[in-house]
Amino acid sequence: MELYIVSDIGGTQIRVAAHDSSTLSCIDQKKIATQRQGQYPIQRLINLIRDISKDHILKAISIGVPGFLDLEKGIILNCPNIPGWVNFPIRQILTEQFNVPIYINNDANLAALGEWKYGIGQGHKNLLYLTISTGIGSGVIINNQLLLGTKGLAGELGHTTLEPNGPLCGCGQYGHLEALASGTAIKAYVEAQIESGRSSTLSGSINFQGNDIFLAARNGDSLAFEAYQRAGKYLGMAIANFLHIFNPSIVILGGGVTQVGDLLFKPTESSLRDHVIRPEYIDMLQLTKSSLGDDVGLQGALAYLVLNNGNQII
Ligand SMILES: [Zn+2]
Repeated sequence: MELYIVSDIGGTQIRVAAHDSSTLSCIDQKKIATQRQGQYPIQRLINLIRDISKDHILKAISIGVPGFLDLEKGIILNCPNIPGWVNFPIRQILTEQFNVPIYINNDANLAALGEWKYGIGQGHKNLLYLTISTGIGSGVIINNQLLLGTKGLAGELGHTTLEPNGPLCGCGQYGHLEALASGTAIKAYVEAQIESGRSSTLSGSINFQGNDIFLAARNGDSLAFEAYQRAGKYLGMAIANFLHIFNPSIVILGGGVTQVGDLLFKPTESSLRDHVIRPEYIDMLQLTKSSLGDDVGLQGALAYLVLNNGNQII
């Protein structure tokens, strides 16, 4: 069988799926830890691709990477969660190994494509996708095309400045959306408030996680509840900015933090209404959860491959 291989690389896991290149149906899917003592992540990826494609003919590979890329050169400029992937020539390495077309893009860009092609974004010409987890990634589709910009670096909505004197962002700047509404930001806010003397059911627990904050909020803890209200306020403010720039018909929110549902969506919607400059921006707007869940990265990599490979199926 002739195969398309798609991969979603994260700081924790590498996921790979094999698709029949003529029907696009998925024939196999595997995942492994990204990092293991004594092995480079790139070698683990290569081994996994070899393993899933053995006994078949490889036609093309498409990969989503959680970092900044030079799309023209096929180089990962920086990948904060994967040590060593700085100015990393991933396309050249994989081309030498497999000698097939290699497509690489930012994982959130591909997730946007995945929702647009195979998920809840189908039929929308103008779409925004935001993944809210450790950080905030995003992808923008305008007139049925992924927005890439001059160097392929467009659509970094998580690094929009909302509070110039706000908290430090993962990128090194201050007051970005990511530093105010990501899972990391929500936890940091709760910790700082406890530190300053606020009482909370989380006060006694060491090293509580996002899920603990969610449970505390659901059980009536006012600080935990407020942390989501605050994140939603900034998220709504940011989305209002994005609506003014892109005027999409759908905004899709993915990532672990969106699992809390209304706790985040309600304050986000309310803040969005407060900050939008005309009601027409939100009249027909769908603000919704991702429909593809954990598979969004793989589906996006497949959509990207098919679009680039000149395949007539789509
Ligand atoms: Zn930032």
